[in-house]
Amino acid sequence: MTVWSQLVGQTEAISVLSTAATAAAELVDGTGTAAGMTHAWLFTGPPGSGRSVAARAFAAALECTTPGGIGCGECQGCHTAMSGTHADVRMVVPEGLSISVAEMRALVQTSARRPTGGRWQVVVITDADRLTEGAANALLKAVEEPPPRTVFLLCAPSDHPDDVSVTIRSRCRVVALRTPSAAAIAEVLQLRDRIDGETATWAASVSSGHVGRARRLATDPAARERRDKVLRIPINLRRLSDVFDAADDLVSAAEADAGQVSGTRDEVEKDALKTALGAGGTGKGAAAATRGSAGAIKELERRQKSRATRTQRDALDLALVDLAGFYRDVLVTSSGSTAALNHPDHATSSRQAAEKWTQESTLRRLEAVLACREAIEINVKPRIAVESMITQLYMG
Ligand SMILES: [Zn+2]
Repeated sequence: MTVWSQLVGQTEAISVLSTAATAAAELVDGTGTAAGMTHAWLFTGPPGSGRSVAARAFAAALECTTPGGIGCGECQGCHTAMSGTHADVRMVVPEGLSISVAEMRALVQTSARRPTGGRWQVVVITDADRLTEGAANALLKAVEEPPPRTVFLLCAPSDHPDDVSVTIRSRCRVVALRTPSAAAIAEVLQLRDRIDGETATWAASVSSGHVGRARRLATDPAARERRDKVLRIPINLRRLSDVFDAADDLVSAAEADAGQVSGTRDEVEKDALKTALGAGGTGKGAAAATRGSAGAIKELERRQKSRATRTQRDALDLALVDLAGFYRDVLVTSSGSTAALNHPDHATSSRQAAEKWTQESTLRRLEAVLACREAIEINVKPRIAVESMITQLYMG
Protein backbone atom coordinates (compact mmCIF):
# COMPACT_ATOMS: atom_id res chain seq x y z
CA MET A 1 0.00 0.00 0.00
CA THR A 2 1.36 3.41 -0.99
CA VAL A 3 0.71 6.55 1.04
CA TRP A 4 -1.97 7.48 -1.51
CA SER A 5 -4.18 4.51 -0.68
CA GLN A 6 -5.27 6.44 2.43
CA LEU A 7 -7.10 8.90 0.15
CA VAL A 8 -10.61 7.81 -0.68
CA GLY A 9 -12.12 8.71 -4.06
CA GLN A 10 -9.55 11.42 -4.84
CA THR A 11 -8.03 10.34 -8.16
CA GLU A 12 -7.41 13.88 -9.44
CA ALA A 13 -5.77 15.12 -6.24
CA ILE A 14 -3.52 12.06 -6.13
CA SER A 15 -2.36 12.69 -9.68
CA VAL A 16 -1.53 16.36 -8.94
CA LEU A 17 0.26 15.52 -5.71
CA SER A 18 2.31 12.63 -7.02
CA THR A 19 3.44 14.73 -9.98
CA ALA A 20 4.55 17.45 -7.56
CA ALA A 21 6.27 14.88 -5.33
CA THR A 22 8.20 13.59 -8.35
CA ALA A 23 9.34 17.13 -9.17
CA ALA A 24 10.29 17.65 -5.53
CA ALA A 25 12.36 14.47 -5.49
CA GLU A 26 14.17 15.49 -8.67
CA LEU A 27 14.96 18.80 -7.05
CA VAL A 28 16.40 17.10 -3.96
CA ASP A 29 18.43 14.68 -6.11
CA GLY A 30 19.72 17.59 -8.21
CA THR A 31 18.23 16.23 -11.43
CA GLY A 32 15.36 18.70 -11.75
CA THR A 33 14.51 22.38 -11.47
CA ALA A 34 12.33 24.13 -8.94
CA ALA A 35 9.66 24.66 -11.60
CA GLY A 36 7.42 21.68 -10.81
CA MET A 37 7.35 22.20 -7.05
CA THR A 38 5.29 24.71 -5.04
CA HIS A 39 6.18 25.74 -1.48
CA ALA A 40 2.67 26.43 -0.23
CA TRP A 41 -0.37 24.26 -0.74
CA LEU A 42 -3.97 24.62 0.33
CA PHE A 43 -6.06 21.46 0.74
CA THR A 44 -9.77 22.20 0.65
CA GLY A 45 -12.80 19.98 0.95
CA PRO A 46 -15.80 19.26 3.14
CA PRO A 47 -15.25 17.75 6.61
CA GLY A 48 -14.43 14.07 6.35
CA SER A 49 -13.15 14.28 2.78
CA GLY A 50 -9.64 13.75 4.14
CA ARG A 51 -7.88 17.13 3.93
CA SER A 52 -5.36 16.37 6.64
CA VAL A 53 -4.97 12.79 5.42
CA ALA A 54 -4.09 14.14 1.97
CA ALA A 55 -1.65 16.65 3.44
CA ARG A 56 0.00 13.95 5.52
CA ALA A 57 0.27 11.60 2.53
CA PHE A 58 1.88 14.38 0.51
CA ALA A 59 4.29 15.08 3.38
CA ALA A 60 5.20 11.39 3.39
CA ALA A 61 5.76 11.42 -0.36
CA LEU A 62 8.10 14.40 0.06
CA GLU A 63 10.07 12.53 2.74
CA CYS A 64 10.03 9.17 0.90
CA THR A 65 13.57 7.80 0.70
CA THR A 66 12.99 4.94 -1.73
CA PRO A 67 14.64 5.95 -5.03
CA GLY A 68 11.77 6.85 -7.34
CA GLY A 69 9.38 5.77 -4.58
CA ILE A 70 7.40 9.03 -4.16
CA GLY A 71 5.29 7.77 -1.33
CA CYS A 72 6.06 4.04 -1.41
CA GLY A 73 4.46 3.63 2.01
CA GLU A 74 7.19 1.18 3.05
CA CYS A 75 10.35 3.19 3.78
CA GLN A 76 11.34 4.88 7.03
CA GLY A 77 10.52 8.33 5.61
CA CYS A 78 6.98 7.32 4.61
CA HIS A 79 6.36 5.46 7.85
CA THR A 80 7.49 8.18 10.23
CA ALA A 81 5.74 10.93 8.26
CA MET A 82 2.46 9.01 8.25
CA SER A 83 2.67 8.13 11.94
CA GLY A 84 3.54 11.71 12.91
CA THR A 85 7.06 11.07 14.21
CA HIS A 86 9.20 12.34 11.31
CA ALA A 87 11.67 14.96 12.56
CA ASP A 88 11.04 17.24 9.57
CA VAL A 89 7.25 17.03 9.48
CA ARG A 90 5.31 19.24 11.86
CA MET A 91 1.57 18.86 12.30
CA VAL A 92 -0.03 21.94 13.75
CA VAL A 93 -3.25 21.20 15.55
CA PRO A 94 -4.89 24.44 16.64
CA GLU A 95 -4.80 25.28 20.30
CA GLY A 96 -8.39 25.21 21.49
CA LEU A 97 -10.49 26.91 18.89
CA SER A 98 -7.79 28.92 17.14
CA ILE A 99 -4.05 28.93 16.43
CA SER A 100 -2.16 31.50 18.52
CA VAL A 101 0.36 34.04 17.25
CA ALA A 102 3.07 32.66 19.55
CA GLU A 103 2.54 29.15 18.27
CA MET A 104 2.74 30.33 14.68
CA ARG A 105 5.88 32.43 15.22
CA ALA A 106 7.68 29.50 16.84
CA LEU A 107 6.61 27.30 14.00
CA VAL A 108 7.78 29.67 11.29
CA GLN A 109 11.16 29.81 13.00
CA THR A 110 11.70 26.05 13.18
CA SER A 111 10.44 25.59 9.64
CA ALA A 112 13.31 27.74 8.36
CA ARG A 113 15.90 25.21 9.60
CA ARG A 114 17.58 22.84 7.23
CA PRO A 115 15.74 19.52 7.00
CA THR A 116 17.57 16.96 9.16
CA GLY A 117 16.73 14.17 6.73
CA GLY A 118 18.14 16.20 3.83
CA ARG A 119 14.81 16.43 2.00
CA TRP A 120 12.07 18.87 3.06
CA GLN A 121 10.86 20.69 6.13
CA VAL A 122 7.11 20.18 6.00
CA VAL A 123 4.62 22.13 8.07
CA VAL A 124 1.03 20.88 8.05
CA ILE A 125 -1.59 23.26 9.44
CA THR A 126 -4.70 21.14 9.82
CA ASP A 127 -7.28 23.89 10.43
CA ALA A 128 -5.95 26.95 8.64
CA ASP A 129 -9.45 28.46 8.88
CA ARG A 130 -8.93 28.67 12.63
CA LEU A 131 -5.87 30.93 12.38
CA THR A 132 -6.26 34.20 14.24
CA GLU A 133 -5.49 37.32 12.22
CA GLY A 134 -2.14 37.68 14.01
CA ALA A 135 -1.22 34.08 13.37
CA ALA A 136 -2.20 34.40 9.73
CA ASN A 137 0.10 37.42 9.39
CA ALA A 138 2.99 35.54 10.99
CA LEU A 139 2.42 32.70 8.56
CA LEU A 140 2.06 35.01 5.57
CA LYS A 141 5.65 36.24 5.87
CA ALA A 142 6.97 32.70 5.73
CA VAL A 143 4.72 31.74 2.85
CA GLU A 144 5.75 34.84 0.88
CA GLU A 145 9.45 34.09 1.17
CA PRO A 146 9.74 30.40 1.90
CA PRO A 147 13.15 28.95 2.75
CA PRO A 148 14.28 26.84 -0.24
CA ARG A 149 13.53 23.48 1.38
CA THR A 150 10.38 24.33 3.31
CA VAL A 151 6.85 23.37 2.30
CA PHE A 152 3.64 24.61 3.94
CA LEU A 153 0.53 22.46 3.69
CA LEU A 154 -2.64 24.23 4.80
CA CYS A 155 -6.01 22.56 5.26
CA ALA A 156 -9.33 24.42 5.28
CA PRO A 157 -12.96 23.74 4.33
CA SER A 158 -12.69 26.04 1.29
CA ASP A 159 -10.52 28.75 -0.28
CA HIS A 160 -13.20 31.35 0.49
CA PRO A 161 -11.85 34.52 2.24
CA ASP A 162 -13.85 33.51 5.34
CA ASP A 163 -11.64 30.45 5.63
CA VAL A 164 -8.28 31.62 4.29
CA SER A 165 -7.16 35.20 3.79
CA VAL A 166 -6.91 36.35 0.19
CA THR A 167 -3.20 37.08 0.53
CA ILE A 168 -2.34 33.62 1.83
CA ARG A 169 -4.65 32.02 -0.71
CA SER A 170 -2.84 33.87 -3.52
CA ARG A 171 0.46 32.23 -2.52
CA CYS A 172 -0.91 28.70 -2.41
CA ARG A 173 -1.60 26.05 -4.94
CA VAL A 174 -5.08 24.68 -4.20
CA VAL A 175 -5.88 20.97 -4.11
CA ALA A 176 -9.67 20.61 -3.95
CA LEU A 177 -10.80 17.32 -2.50
CA ARG A 178 -14.25 16.06 -3.36
CA THR A 179 -16.82 14.40 -1.16
CA PRO A 180 -16.02 10.74 -1.74
CA SER A 181 -18.83 8.64 -3.21
CA ALA A 182 -20.59 6.07 -1.04
CA ALA A 183 -19.18 3.35 -3.30
CA ALA A 184 -15.59 4.58 -2.78
CA ILE A 185 -16.08 4.68 0.98
CA ALA A 186 -17.64 1.22 1.08
CA GLU A 187 -14.71 -0.11 -0.91
CA VAL A 188 -12.07 1.32 1.40
CA LEU A 189 -13.93 0.08 4.48
CA GLN A 190 -13.83 -3.42 3.06
CA LEU A 191 -10.26 -3.36 1.75
CA ARG A 192 -8.49 -1.41 4.48
CA ASP A 193 -10.60 -2.02 7.55
CA ARG A 194 -11.74 -5.55 6.68
CA ILE A 195 -15.40 -4.72 7.27
CA ASP A 196 -17.97 -7.04 5.72
CA GLY A 197 -19.68 -5.88 2.51
CA GLU A 198 -23.15 -5.33 3.94
CA THR A 199 -22.03 -3.26 6.93
CA ALA A 200 -19.58 -1.28 4.77
CA THR A 201 -22.26 -0.43 2.20
CA TRP A 202 -24.75 0.60 4.89
CA ALA A 203 -22.23 2.74 6.81
CA ALA A 204 -21.05 4.43 3.59
CA SER A 205 -24.64 5.17 2.57
CA VAL A 206 -25.52 7.02 5.80
CA SER A 207 -22.27 8.89 6.44
CA SER A 208 -22.77 11.76 3.94
CA GLY A 209 -19.32 11.23 2.45
CA HIS A 210 -17.50 11.40 5.78
CA VAL A 211 -14.97 8.56 5.74
CA GLY A 212 -14.05 8.60 9.43
CA ARG A 213 -17.68 8.66 10.46
CA ALA A 214 -18.50 5.76 8.15
CA ARG A 215 -15.69 3.73 9.71
CA ARG A 216 -16.90 4.51 13.23
CA LEU A 217 -20.50 3.59 12.41
CA ALA A 218 -19.31 0.36 10.82
CA THR A 219 -17.12 -0.69 13.72
CA ASP A 220 -18.72 0.76 16.85
CA PRO A 221 -22.20 -0.38 17.94
CA ALA A 222 -22.35 2.46 20.49
CA ALA A 223 -21.83 5.03 17.72
CA ARG A 224 -24.68 3.42 15.76
CA GLU A 225 -26.91 3.58 18.84
CA ARG A 226 -26.07 7.29 19.33
CA ARG A 227 -26.92 8.05 15.72
CA ASP A 228 -30.27 6.28 16.07
CA LYS A 229 -31.02 8.24 19.20
CA VAL A 230 -30.36 11.53 17.41
CA LEU A 231 -32.51 10.53 14.44
CA ARG A 232 -35.40 9.58 16.72
CA ILE A 233 -35.51 13.08 18.21
CA PRO A 234 -37.81 14.67 15.57
CA ILE A 235 -40.55 12.06 15.96
CA ASN A 236 -40.27 11.85 19.74
CA LEU A 237 -40.91 15.54 20.42
CA ARG A 238 -44.48 15.38 21.68
CA ARG A 239 -44.50 17.66 24.72
CA LEU A 240 -42.54 20.75 25.62
CA SER A 241 -40.88 18.79 28.44
CA ASP A 242 -39.41 16.43 25.79
CA VAL A 243 -37.30 19.35 24.57
CA PHE A 244 -34.88 19.20 27.47
CA ASP A 245 -34.50 15.43 27.36
CA ALA A 246 -33.82 15.63 23.64
CA ALA A 247 -31.26 18.40 24.13
CA ASP A 248 -29.58 16.23 26.76
CA ASP A 249 -29.54 13.26 24.41
CA LEU A 250 -28.01 15.29 21.61
CA VAL A 251 -25.31 16.97 23.67
CA SER A 252 -24.36 13.82 25.56
CA ALA A 253 -24.28 11.76 22.35
CA ALA A 254 -21.79 14.26 20.94
CA GLU A 255 -19.73 14.18 24.13
CA ALA A 256 -19.62 10.39 24.09
CA ASP A 257 -18.69 10.34 20.39
CA ALA A 258 -15.92 12.87 20.95
CA GLY A 259 -14.67 11.05 24.06
CA GLN A 260 -14.23 7.92 22.00
CA VAL A 261 -12.25 9.74 19.29
CA SER A 262 -10.07 11.71 21.72
CA GLY A 263 -9.43 8.78 24.06
CA THR A 264 -7.81 6.55 21.47
CA ARG A 265 -5.88 9.39 19.83
CA ASP A 266 -4.61 10.80 23.13
CA GLU A 267 -3.27 7.42 24.25
CA VAL A 268 -1.49 6.83 20.93
CA GLU A 269 0.13 10.28 21.13
CA LYS A 270 1.18 9.85 24.71
CA ASP A 271 2.76 6.48 23.97
CA ALA A 272 4.59 7.93 20.95
CA LEU A 273 5.88 10.84 23.05
CA LYS A 274 7.03 8.54 25.83
CA THR A 275 8.85 6.34 23.33
CA ALA A 276 10.44 9.40 21.72
CA LEU A 277 11.56 10.62 25.14
CA GLY A 278 13.14 7.24 25.83
CA ALA A 279 10.91 6.04 28.65
CA GLY A 280 12.16 2.93 30.39
CA GLY A 281 15.86 3.87 30.46
CA THR A 282 17.95 3.63 33.65
CA GLY A 283 20.85 5.59 35.18
CA LYS A 284 21.52 9.22 35.97
CA GLY A 285 20.90 10.53 32.44
CA ALA A 286 17.60 8.74 32.22
CA ALA A 287 16.44 10.20 35.55
CA ALA A 288 17.12 13.74 34.33
CA ALA A 289 15.39 12.94 31.06
CA THR A 290 12.37 11.66 32.99
CA ARG A 291 12.11 14.97 34.85
CA GLY A 292 12.24 16.85 31.55
CA SER A 293 9.74 14.53 29.96
CA ALA A 294 7.20 15.02 32.75
CA GLY A 295 6.96 18.64 31.53
CA ALA A 296 6.60 17.53 27.91
CA ILE A 297 3.85 15.09 28.85
CA LYS A 298 2.03 17.76 30.84
CA GLU A 299 2.22 20.09 27.84
CA LEU A 300 0.82 17.34 25.63
CA GLU A 301 -2.05 16.74 28.07
CA ARG A 302 -2.88 20.44 28.08
CA ARG A 303 -3.05 20.50 24.30
CA GLN A 304 -5.11 17.34 24.23
CA LYS A 305 -7.61 18.88 26.62
CA SER A 306 -8.14 21.98 24.52
CA ARG A 307 -8.37 19.85 21.41
CA ALA A 308 -11.07 17.74 23.12
CA THR A 309 -13.32 20.82 23.29
CA ARG A 310 -13.01 21.14 19.55
CA THR A 311 -13.58 17.45 18.94
CA GLN A 312 -16.78 17.75 20.96
CA ARG A 313 -18.00 20.60 18.83
CA ASP A 314 -17.12 18.71 15.68
CA ALA A 315 -19.03 15.66 16.97
CA LEU A 316 -22.05 17.81 17.78
CA ASP A 317 -21.84 19.32 14.32
CA LEU A 318 -21.91 15.85 12.77
CA ALA A 319 -25.01 15.02 14.83
CA LEU A 320 -26.63 18.24 13.60
CA VAL A 321 -25.77 17.33 10.02
CA ASP A 322 -27.53 13.99 10.62
CA LEU A 323 -30.54 15.82 11.98
CA ALA A 324 -30.62 18.27 9.05
CA GLY A 325 -30.43 15.24 6.77
CA PHE A 326 -33.55 13.83 8.42
CA TYR A 327 -35.57 17.00 7.73
CA ARG A 328 -34.30 16.99 4.17
CA ASP A 329 -35.54 13.41 3.87
CA VAL A 330 -38.97 14.56 5.08
CA LEU A 331 -39.02 17.25 2.37
CA VAL A 332 -37.86 14.77 -0.27
CA THR A 333 -40.64 12.38 0.74
CA SER A 334 -43.43 14.96 0.99
CA SER A 335 -42.54 16.45 -2.40
CA GLY A 336 -42.73 13.02 -4.02
CA SER A 337 -39.14 13.28 -5.25
CA THR A 338 -37.17 10.13 -5.98
CA ALA A 339 -33.86 11.65 -4.77
CA ALA A 340 -31.82 9.36 -2.53
CA LEU A 341 -32.51 9.69 1.21
CA ASN A 342 -29.76 10.63 3.67
CA HIS A 343 -31.04 8.08 6.13
CA PRO A 344 -32.73 5.27 4.22
CA ASP A 345 -32.79 3.20 7.43
CA HIS A 346 -35.07 5.80 9.06
CA ALA A 347 -37.43 6.09 6.08
CA THR A 348 -40.43 5.00 8.16
CA SER A 349 -40.01 7.99 10.49
CA SER A 350 -39.43 10.48 7.70
CA ARG A 351 -42.54 9.19 5.91
CA GLN A 352 -44.55 9.53 9.12
CA ALA A 353 -43.32 13.09 9.56
CA ALA A 354 -44.03 13.93 5.91
CA GLU A 355 -47.68 12.96 6.44
CA LYS A 356 -48.00 14.95 9.66
CA TRP A 357 -46.14 18.20 8.95
CA THR A 358 -46.63 20.88 6.29
CA GLN A 359 -43.67 21.50 4.02
CA GLU A 360 -43.34 25.01 5.43
CA SER A 361 -43.00 23.74 8.98
CA THR A 362 -40.47 21.08 7.91
CA LEU A 363 -38.47 23.80 6.19
CA ARG A 364 -38.59 25.94 9.35
CA ARG A 365 -37.26 22.98 11.34
CA LEU A 366 -34.46 22.43 8.84
CA GLU A 367 -33.57 26.12 9.13
CA ALA A 368 -33.52 25.84 12.92
CA VAL A 369 -30.91 23.06 12.68
CA LEU A 370 -28.76 25.11 10.30
CA ALA A 371 -29.06 28.17 12.56
CA CYS A 372 -27.91 26.06 15.51
CA ARG A 373 -24.80 24.96 13.59
CA GLU A 374 -24.01 28.59 12.86
CA ALA A 375 -24.57 29.64 16.48
CA ILE A 376 -22.14 26.98 17.70
CA GLU A 377 -19.62 28.01 15.07
CA ILE A 378 -19.61 31.54 16.52
CA ASN A 379 -19.13 30.13 20.05
CA VAL A 380 -22.63 30.18 21.51
CA LYS A 381 -22.65 27.61 24.33
CA PRO A 382 -23.64 24.30 22.68
CA ARG A 383 -26.35 23.39 25.21
CA ILE A 384 -28.06 26.77 24.88
CA ALA A 385 -27.96 26.67 21.08
CA VAL A 386 -29.27 23.11 21.08
CA GLU A 387 -32.14 23.81 23.51
CA SER A 388 -33.21 26.80 21.45
CA MET A 389 -33.09 24.69 18.28
CA ILE A 390 -35.08 21.82 19.75
CA THR A 391 -37.76 24.19 21.04
CA GLN A 392 -38.19 25.30 17.43
CA LEU A 393 -38.19 21.70 16.23
CA TYR A 394 -41.02 21.02 18.69
CA MET A 395 -43.05 24.06 17.70
CA GLY A 396 -42.47 23.62 13.96
ZN1 LIG B 1 8.66 5.78 0.95
